[in-house]
Amino acid sequence: MSSLKGYPKFPDVTKEKLERELLPEVFQWAISNGLTIYPPDFKISEAQVAPITLFPTPLPRKAFEDAIDVQKSFNSLYAKISQNHNGWLEEESEKLAKSDPEFTGKLWEIYKRAKEHGISQDLALGVFRSDYLINDNDNQIKQVEFNTVSVSFAGLSTKVGQLHQYLNDSGRYSADGESFFNEEIPVSPSAELLAEGLTKAIQHFKPAASDKKPIVAFIVQEGERNVFDQSVLAFNLLSKHGIQSCRLTMQEIHLKTTLDKSTKRLYLNSTGKEIGLVYFRSGYAPNDFVTQQDWENRFTLEISYAIKAPNLLTQLSGTKKIQQLLTNKNILTKFLPDANSADALLQTFVRIYPLDSSELGEMGKKLAFTNPENFVLKPQREGGGNNIYKEDIPTFLKSIDEKDWPAYILMELINPRPTEENIVIRGEQTFQVPILSELGVFGTILFDNKTVHSNDYAGWLLRSKFSASNKGGVAAGFGCVDSVVLY
Ligand code: ADP
Ligand code: MG
Repeated sequence: MSSLKGYPKFPDVTKEKLERELLPEVFQWAISNGLTIYPPDFKISEAQVAPITLFPTPLPRKAFEDAIDVQKSFNSLYAKISQNHNGWLEEESEKLAKSDPEFTGKLWEIYKRAKEHGISQDLALGVFRSDYLINDNDNQIKQVEFNTVSVSFAGLSTKVGQLHQYLNDSGRYSADGESFFNEEIPVSPSAELLAEGLTKAIQHFKPAASDKKPIVAFIVQEGERNVFDQSVLAFNLLSKHGIQSCRLTMQEIHLKTTLDKSTKRLYLNSTGKEIGLVYFRSGYAPNDFVTQQDWENRFTLEISYAIKAPNLLTQLSGTKKIQQLLTNKNILTKFLPDANSADALLQTFVRIYPLDSSELGEMGKKLAFTNPENFVLKPQREGGGNNIYKEDIPTFLKSIDEKDWPAYILMELINPRPTEENIVIRGEQTFQVPILSELGVFGTILFDNKTVHSNDYAGWLLRSKFSASNKGGVAAGFGCVDSVVLY
């Protein structure tokens, strides 16, 4: 693979050099700088080094830049959809609620109740991440999914880039103490830019007491292990913008906050401070809602005057069904009329079929049985581990009632090129196996029913997974945080 034109070579690392020199250096840097995660069943005083790669992974510069270039158009597109432009998102969500009553349906119910009750805050913040694989044969970026809720790794992405840059600049990768990679190893600005995005929401928020600064409430999962990724944002909010924050679980809202019945302003009980922004790092999966009270708490947050990142409509705009519908140019251009922007986004899409009674749906149903090897089947769920690949698709579809098929989308498989030489570090174990890398680009956008107040690119992320070669390139198994070396 190193023979490919311009493809960066990897350092030759003996087992001895890896264990005696590089790993201690990696662990010391990671622990010193918070490139960490809690292990399962953790004590709060004991973190471990996050799963990472030893080297940055080579990425074609053109693909990297293309992904960054389209982010603001994606932000605009999803903001426009979330504004419920032409009532389209409500219409589609109503249908989707029927095919996924357990989760999408419940979010939809809460939204309808909130709307009936009256939604007091017009402003909404989108904190988005668009994920891509890079097609092997032409190096084009192809979108895997667009995330509109609880996007993670903006914090750790910056740190792993800093680690790789440090290892390179300090001469640790090489035998002669010089930097090994001469190509650029960029550091993702996501840890700073995401905090800036949250700050813009606070700056537009009008607090009840104009002399008191509102705070940000991070809504988090109980027992969250990826805390350090989140705390980087909290630290940056305070140190760079003077904004305080607190952490609350969905289960704690009715116990630790108070909603003023008449003004709908939301206050943190312990300090009396007003919450100006509710930033969700949970609430995207059924497990985040254990009891009816948790759903009530989500309702309280939705009707509160605090800005939500995201509100329920923005969250609903991120379903895989909406992603499928947007591959239709006629639908896409309703929300993104600018032809150049629309074309740029269309080029990042692979074919996605519904499995319903529409014309395209009938084609999808046929292809799922005649050519399953070209597809992945996805349900309306976030957070990994739900997809059905290739030959498993027909068996799976036959195992469920055909009336439930519309809850799934059938997506053409993207065929990324594995990287052979990188080394994955998990705990004290290292693995030199082929990996597949997924590039994510962050964006933030602040908007109300009519206007976009700010629209920004907010950094990037590379996540790599072991590539299960027996499945011909379908990603499976563990993920880790990676960075890029551009060629
Ligand atoms: P989730 O909401 O679970 O993150 P994704 O759509 O991101 O769902 O799919 C999970 C993983 O499945 C991706 O990270 C990627 O590795 C793989 N995957 C998804 N779609 C495709 C595709 N079209 N081609 C190849 N791999 C895919
Ligand atoms: Mg994903």
